Amino acid sequence: MEIALVGNPNSGKTTVFNHLTGSSQYVGNWPGVTVERKCGPITKKKHILLQDLPGIYSMSPYTPEEIVARDYLLNGKPQAILNVVDATNLERNLYLTTQLMETGIPVCLSLNMMDILEAQKKYLNIEKLSYGLGIPVVSMSALKKKGVEKAVEKAENHQDTQYPTYDNRLEAALDEISLVLGGTVPEKQARWYAIKVFERDEEITQNLDLSTLQKKELEEIIAITEKVFDEDSLSIVINARYDFITQLTKLCLGERGVLEENFSDKVDRIVTNRFLALPIFALIMWLVYAISIQWVGGVGTDWLNEVVFGSFLPERLADFLNFIHVADWLQNLIIDGILAGTGAVLGFLPQIFVLFICLGLLEDCGYMSRIAFVMDRVFRKFGLSGKSFIPMLVATGCGVPGIMATRTIENEKDRRLTIMVTTFMPCSAKLPIIALIAGAFFPQASWVAPSAYLAGIAAIILSGIALKKSKLFAGDASPFIMELPSYHLPAMKNVLKYALNHAKSFVKRAGTVIFVMNIAIWFLSTYSWSLTQVSADQSILADFGRLMSPLFAPLGWGSWQATVATLTGLVAKETVVGSLGVLYATSGGTDWAGLQAALTPIAAYSFLLFNLLCAPCFAAIGAIHKEMHAFKWSALAVFYQCGLAYAVSFWIFQIGMLVLTGIFTIASALAFIVLALLCYFLFRKQAKTSEELDVLTLDMFETGKGNVK
Ligand code: GDP
Ligand code: MG
Repeated sequence: MEIALVGNPNSGKTTVFNHLTGSSQYVGNWPGVTVERKCGPITKKKHILLQDLPGIYSMSPYTPEEIVARDYLLNGKPQAILNVVDATNLERNLYLTTQLMETGIPVCLSLNMMDILEAQKKYLNIEKLSYGLGIPVVSMSALKKKGVEKAVEKAENHQDTQYPTYDNRLEAALDEISLVLGGTVPEKQARWYAIKVFERDEEITQNLDLSTLQKKELEEIIAITEKVFDEDSLSIVINARYDFITQLTKLCLGERGVLEENFSDKVDRIVTNRFLALPIFALIMWLVYAISIQWVGGVGTDWLNEVVFGSFLPERLADFLNFIHVADWLQNLIIDGILAGTGAVLGFLPQIFVLFICLGLLEDCGYMSRIAFVMDRVFRKFGLSGKSFIPMLVATGCGVPGIMATRTIENEKDRRLTIMVTTFMPCSAKLPIIALIAGAFFPQASWVAPSAYLAGIAAIILSGIALKKSKLFAGDASPFIMELPSYHLPAMKNVLKYALNHAKSFVKRAGTVIFVMNIAIWFLSTYSWSLTQVSADQSILADFGRLMSPLFAPLGWGSWQATVATLTGLVAKETVVGSLGVLYATSGGTDWAGLQAALTPIAAYSFLLFNLLCAPCFAAIGAIHKEMHAFKWSALAVFYQCGLAYAVSFWIFQIGMLVLTGIFTIASALAFIVLALLCYFLFRKQAKTSEELDVLTLDMFETGKGNVK
């Protein structure tokens, strides 16, 4: 038999799913992450197949998640639904419950997060809730693993279907609709279809085989009812649902007395404060980057770079290779190619690990959800919803899933815009570049690494403002409803697993893509066109680099090595550091003296910014192309990213030089023109768009009953 787990985002479905099926994966706490559908047999009841459906707030067909869930429930026909409900947000969650009950599938309600409710000393009468709904209700805490088995057992054995009844006048209309529909719809789903027809849900009515006469009769019933209520049919249903829920919660919520502020509310008053939120976020991110790159991670990396990959390994390896009489060229490949390149990348492992411990902690305790919420407020100002920030959070790990996460954005223009800017967020592969430049050129300045992160966010926000003004992307923000889960102590196990996963994939990439790239770089930089061994300066790679380097000279780093490193970044961003490691390898091992001699600090910073903002690696470009569905859009995205990177780096370098040297050149003048252009795009007039009715707004906001924070 098949049981479907259905519920709002963040209600705990995945936690329940993992507990029951034993498959363990990371449990995040921002909504919309579980886009795909997971299923598996229950460990202790192999005959039950459990489906983890994506989190949804309602069954309207507007978001990809809703469509997946709705199609599955209406066509896949699981034998039972286990509705996972966040007890701390009962009213909002029950909105979905009322819809689930209409699908004709037996529903069992599991009230999750009861531990939080208990800690808040709030009382909820489960018998009355069960009575009011007419379905079994089980209290549970998925996190504490309490009540989960019992909920499944109830779902397994409960076979009745029951749906809430609403206002008499609405019920009368629904009865008449059912009569007209008659045998055209499956008997079990009669209620569902009656309501959908009443709501004028095109998706559903399209597929019904209705005669013109039937259609006319149905339209008359709806029109009359709308007159009676003096409201449109969709609003009538929404109001009816909320009226039902209000009565129900009144019935079962105990004496709460005055709503006292709990700990989470108190923290949120400061953390999501209109004025403090962004400075606090900046401070926290500064701390995260300072800790992971400059302080804790730095100590580990210095040790790895200087001691392990800098002297210990190369010396031992050289001794060993001499001992077994390995040919010179092969020694050279192993030590100056593979070890120098891969070591340069792997040296940053401690920083990656510490960074993801910090990010994992922030996420697991609930802070990251607040950031999406705070960002929603910022984004909304220029017409983008906070939903766009979620892909960016995902992109701090890797741009590819970040770009894929844009699928949760229903507005196509916003989705495209988000795809274009998501990879400005520094992903874990860009981290070594940040760490390298910060460590080699600015060892005393703790602002450099965090500034790279903030530059990414600034690029996103400013791009959002500028692009939204163009006709291509103009339009209002779609509503973003997000629940702020209560703060809780992070589960160290989750956090460690999260950080370990990132560290593992980092090492894996260093051993595969980066490894191969380093060999290629070494080969091309050791041999000339006639395949004789030459000094790097006369190599194939140098020729190639010199061909391209004039392009980057205005940015301050026109050396062929820096050019080559940047271009190899297209394969994988870690290779930027790997290539620099190979190209500046001094007597085996990675010290960065060669690099430090080649670039001035301001040029190095410009190099860093360019590599952060320019087109992402091929994998991410591929993802962009897949999600954009059109070459035109993918090309626009990559062109925009490279263009912005070039403009910003040019500006930083030229203005930096002007300030440092006091000499005003043609390039300085050009830098001011670039600035003027950037400002123009930022402040020009908004292009007009056609206003669209956003049904979701109606659904959740205008009734004013979804507790939207
Ligand atoms: P989903 O979006 O519905 O799949 O929700 P998740 O399973 O990812 O859970 C969201 C967050 O709620 C995670 O941080 C969980 O650890 C937490 N969580 C889930 N169940 C409970 C519970 O019963 N009590 C508490 N305190 N937290 C829970
Ligand atoms: Mg989930």
